[in-house]
This record gives sequence, C-alpha cells and structure tokens, in this order.
Amino acid sequence: MDLYQSAKEEIKRTVDIVELIGQFVQLKRSGQSYLGLCPFHSEKTPSFTVSPSRQMFHCFGCKKGGDLFAFWMAYHQVSFPQALKDLAEKYHVSLPEKDPGPPGIKDSILRVNEAAADFFHHILTKSGKGKAGRHYLEQRSIPGEIISEFKLGYAPDEWDGLARALREKKISPETALQAGLLIPRKTDGHYDRFRNRVMFPIFDMRSRIVGFGGRVLDDSLPKYLNTPETPVFQKGELLYGLHVAYSRIRESGRVVIVEGYTDVLALIKHGFRGAVATLGTALTRDHIRKLKGYAREAVVVFDPDAAGTAAAMKSLPLFLDEGMPARVLSLPEGDDPDTFVNHRGLEAFQALLERSVPMFDFFIERKMTDGEKDIERQVKVLEDIFPVLAELKNHVQRALYVKRLAEKLQVTEKALAAEFQKWAAKGPRVPDRPRTSEKKEAKRMDEVYLLNLLLHHPAAAGRIRDLDWKTLVSDPGITEMVACLLDKGAGQGTAQEEILAGLSSEETQQAFREAMLSPSIFTEEEVDRALRDFGEKILRIKIQDSVAQARVRGDFETYHRILKLKKEREVQPRINGNSQEGI
Ligand SMILES: [Zn+2]
Repeated sequence: MDLYQSAKEEIKRTVDIVELIGQFVQLKRSGQSYLGLCPFHSEKTPSFTVSPSRQMFHCFGCKKGGDLFAFWMAYHQVSFPQALKDLAEKYHVSLPEKDPGPPGIKDSILRVNEAAADFFHHILTKSGKGKAGRHYLEQRSIPGEIISEFKLGYAPDEWDGLARALREKKISPETALQAGLLIPRKTDGHYDRFRNRVMFPIFDMRSRIVGFGGRVLDDSLPKYLNTPETPVFQKGELLYGLHVAYSRIRESGRVVIVEGYTDVLALIKHGFRGAVATLGTALTRDHIRKLKGYAREAVVVFDPDAAGTAAAMKSLPLFLDEGMPARVLSLPEGDDPDTFVNHRGLEAFQALLERSVPMFDFFIERKMTDGEKDIERQVKVLEDIFPVLAELKNHVQRALYVKRLAEKLQVTEKALAAEFQKWAAKGPRVPDRPRTSEKKEAKRMDEVYLLNLLLHHPAAAGRIRDLDWKTLVSDPGITEMVACLLDKGAGQGTAQEEILAGLSSEETQQAFREAMLSPSIFTEEEVDRALRDFGEKILRIKIQDSVAQARVRGDFETYHRILKLKKEREVQPRINGNSQEGI
C-alpha cells in the first residue's frame, strides 16, 4: 500500500471532506462543524457531524466515523483500494500504475451490464430488430436525447440475441449468469432473460449500470421484468433516476416519487429533474433513508385507483418513523405522471405539486370518506390509524399526531390519547417491541411533555419549579435534564448547549439533544392549560399515595377523610378525560 501513500495524501490535500460528504448528505453549519442526518443509521435528528478543521466525520448515533476514505468506503460499500481509485478518478489525482489483478465479481458484473446495455441500445437505435421498441418510445413521445442519455434499449425477440453478442465480445456466460442477463437451460447452455422488451438500464449513484428493467410492449405479464438481485443490484435500495436528479433534489429540498421509469423520463423531457421511481417495488425504509440525504420532504404521486392508494399508504408509517415529511399528489382518474405531463404540460403538474397534501391528513380523510355514519367513520379511522401511531418510536411525534388527529375528528386530545392507550394495551403484541403497561406509557408521555414544554417555553420554568414536578417524572435521565434546566435557567441557545455538555451520561446527552431538536408540542396559548393539567395530575398522584400510605399505617380515619375528599373532587366536572389514570 506504500505505493499509494502519496496518492492518498494528495487526495486528502485536494479534497475537502465537507464538500465531498455534502454531495451525499445534507449538511448544515453548526458552530465549528457541520451537521446532517446520518446515512448509516436511522435518525430523525442530525447527529452526523463533519469537522472541516479535523477533516473527519463522526456520527454520535451509531459511532461511525473517520476520514474521507472511511466515508467513501462505508457509503459506497467498497474496499479501500476501490475507494482510492474512485476518488483519484473523481479528483484527477494520478495513481501509480500497477497490475490491477483479477477483477472482483462486482466489477465483472458491471462490465457485462455495460456490454449488454450497448447491445440493447444498438438494437433500439440502429437495427431493424428494434423497430417495435422505437415505435413504443415514439408513442410515449420520448425523444432521442433522452434515449441516449438514459441509454434506453431494446431486447430483440430472440432466445439468444444477447447471448451471441456477449460471446462475440468474449464475455463468459458465467458472468452474464451472475449478472442475471442469462438463464441456464435445463439441458445445456443458456438463453436470454430479456426478450422482446424495451430496456431501461438502472444506474447507481456513480452512474454505473447495475441492472435493467424491461417492459413488454403488449399486455402480457409481467409488465416489467427486472434484473434479479445480484451483488450490485438490490431493488430495495435503488431508485431510478436518482443519479441525475440528486443535485436538483438537494437544491429544492423536495423529491417527487413516481411509479414508473417512463414517468421519470417524461418529467425530465418537460424540464423537471427532481423525480425518482422505485423499481416496481414498494418504498422501503432504505429508500427513504437514502432520500433523506438529499431532500427535506417527499411528494408521493399516487395512482388514484384503490390498489395504488393502498400500496402507497403502506409507506406512511415508514415516512413517519423516519421523520421525513411526506405529501401526496393525486392525479386525475386515469392519468399517470407520464400521460398527465405530456397532455397538460409541466405547469399543470407543478400546480398539482403545490396543492399536494400531507400524507397523514390524506390518510385520515380517505378513511373518513370510506365509512357510512359519522361515528362509524371515526371508529374506522381509529382502527386504521392506531397501528400506524403505534409504529412511531418517537413520543414527541406521536403526541403531535394525536393532536392533529383529534382536531380532524373533533374530539379532545385527552380522550383520544386515552383511547390510544386502551388500544395499545389490548392490541396485538409486537414480539420485538414489548409494550409497556398503559399506566407506564401515560406516565412516560407526561415526562416527555414536561421536558418538551420546558425546552420550548422557558418562561414556564418558574411555574414548573413551583409544582412538585418530581412526582410526575420517574425516568432518571429526564429528572436530571429537568433539574438542570430549572437550575441553570432553561434559556435558549448557549445555556442549553452548556447543560448538554454537563449531563452525566452519553445516553442522557443523546436524549437531551433529541429533545432540543424535537418540535414543540404546545403552542404559546396552550402552555397555561398544559401547566394546569400537570398540576392536576400531580395532585391526584399525591392523593393516591396518601391514601395508600394511610392504609398501610392502618390510619383509617385519615384514609376515609382523603377518600371523601377525593369523591368530592370527582363530582366536579372532570378536566381530564383520561379515565385510565382514575384514582
Ligand atoms: Zn449514524
């Protein structure tokens, strides 16, 4: 590796790590360093830090870190020699000549894919055998520039068209098998996987062809045939068009997700380069995680038919859980982005884009219109939305959605939260996520609420100090955070940073960082009511405790006196609809 030492040093001198990582992760300046959402693990609040002065990165969530080579290796999942080669090429640093040795399997597959793409493209653009394909693309009005930019092609209606072409180029059929381009015959030899199909090469972020999607020209099935999973082709991670769309997506902060390859191409033809498509699969968490590196929000374009809507709705919990805001764009019945933008133009599409609605609201509204009577509708909505809420790991987010849902259904937030806790307690148990008891869950919510209130409304500190707030909080981390905030003044900015640095454990610091960056649950107008509710709850817990203590002491006089007091209080109209906690 000594041979490469000077090249490595030169790359380090030439390349700024912030600039390099910034091409793949949205970074924001934060004091001495830059912060972004970690591309290596799931997170909603940025803990991925890049330091320009040290030329290093570090994620406080998953602890991944190192120099720019470490980043490139982890991000692209390549070895060090490959990273060195990639970066040398990218930044025009020359590497010492050396026998590269036998290429790895990934390289071989990429090479055969390249050869196959050349072959398909040649058939489409130059050969009589590609006439049907040309006709299809003409009908879709996809112009020549796009055909060559995306290297579209045509697989001829033959059993061994590609197999023969590869043989002529001295490419071994074994490699083509590994690339998923050929299929072994039962007896002997191979035949082409893709026949009589328009071919869409699928590019990775480095613009390498990692696989293909082939579309039939008639109504036969499957409509789309993709390369099977190979060492370079994982459907659940790749997005069609991202390699050309990412810079535009980063600029606008928004990614549009469509269903088909031709949708992406039609939008590009009309000058819109911010759309990507999945490869005929549902959106996955990996997709969303990848997109979070470029976009602040996603707009999912729905096929208005029931199946399309149902499939797309499955992505809602993923978006919620990954903390990526998602909106829904509904096209008129019978249209897809391809036909819509071709008939109505880009402006009409952009107008729809501006009118897209948050996916969560869309979901609820959709459910509301499905039912018959009001009450039935509401029950139906709750049955469908509770599992989605249960998927959310972030308590603050869940609280925000409960609030929104309550507004939509016109019920009180407390009543809805109580319903949810009831549902969660008796609902189907998820094996890998043991449910806490409903009482514990309610208490946990109160703790999170209190910390959130204090962080976002520091002026309330005085009134919280007057409350016996420790009665409400049992998590030692939250106790420490609230105590520090009350002690050192809950003020914004530097004070909070200082508190963060002074917290006792890494775990608590992480929790505090998350709380600092979470949105506010209460608006200014709601602070009063929230504080009153906290006061009520604390009082009730105390009464409960006194009753229990009196009983243990055998002090029946006090026991009955408190019980009587308690009954009197209950005669008053209840402020709190949460019957779970009844004393
Ligand atoms: Zn991480």
